[in-house]
Amino acid sequence: VFGASALGQLSEVYGELAQAAGAAERLGEILAAQPGIRAPAAPKALPEPPRGEIAFEGVRFAYPTREGHPSLHGVDLRVAPGERVALVGPSGAGKSTILQLLLRFYDPQQGVVRVDGRDVASVDPEALRARMSLVPQDPTIFSGTVIENIRYGRPDAPEADVLRAARLAHADGFITALPQGYATQVGERGVTLSGGQRQRIAIARAILKDAPILLLDEATSALDAESERAVQSALDTLMRDRTTLVIAHRLATIRKADRILVIDDGRIVEEGTHESLLSSGALYAQLAALQFTDALDETARGKEPRPREV
Ligand code: ATP
Repeated sequence: VFGASALGQLSEVYGELAQAAGAAERLGEILAAQPGIRAPAAPKALPEPPRGEIAFEGVRFAYPTREGHPSLHGVDLRVAPGERVALVGPSGAGKSTILQLLLRFYDPQQGVVRVDGRDVASVDPEALRARMSLVPQDPTIFSGTVIENIRYGRPDAPEADVLRAARLAHADGFITALPQGYATQVGERGVTLSGGQRQRIAIARAILKDAPILLLDEATSALDAESERAVQSALDTLMRDRTTLVIAHRLATIRKADRILVIDDGRIVEEGTHESLLSSGALYAQLAALQFTDALDETARGKEPRPREV
């Protein structure tokens, strides 16, 4: 729970700061002000064109408030360009921490985090974060119009691009049904959007931003069936041709992953596909039975009497 709320709080803080700073301010600039994180004096350029490659090499990390109690103990991982990797594990295992280090909200005490081969600490944080889109569990909606909220993904985007992103995110339908469509005021002083609608706004932002790396913290809360389907197909569009690292809570997402990393107590303890991990019968198999909100339905369906072959 801590992890989910940690990323959530960050996006909250970022939301408030963003309002204070004006909607044109960008995430990177705001987060560069994160205490303890310094932009290098002579930043290296990230390689062009972007590849969307991720690597952790022997990463050990303890939060500043929990010195001596590392949240990651020597994590090694490599995600190839275009690969889809799901992070799975019990609450508090370190999944969100991995995303936070990638975005360089913190620096590890040991080891190196790389994006496109570059140590993330050696590049300009803004340039680093321009290569990644974060879709949090519970995205922040700012006070403003719908169009301003989506444009937040790329402040200089022409209106046609914003509308296209909204369509691809399956958000166009509910937006056009709002009283003033895209000009409707949302957030604190306007219309309240549902969880599924907020997620689709966040997906539209990410489509608009068009970064090569997608960091996704999948929602745990159940959406109504229609919203769920729309969010799933919006995510499929977003993940296409991008490197994706997803904190996965849904079996459907896990099934589509190229690879699953099972995290426990700050370590990668198992790795494989859904089938291979299930048949190994270890931690993943236990988690699958308990955790995946849609897994139980599938199990139930599997138990239904099947027509016998003759
Ligand atoms: P969840 O599934 O609940 O989101 P998680 O796998 O994402 O969990 P993390 O949030 O990465 O887990 O947490 C890993 C460990 O680090 C936990 O022991 C957690 O209590 C701790 N932790 C997380 N965020 C902070 C923080 N900001 N300050 C101190 N400790 C933290």
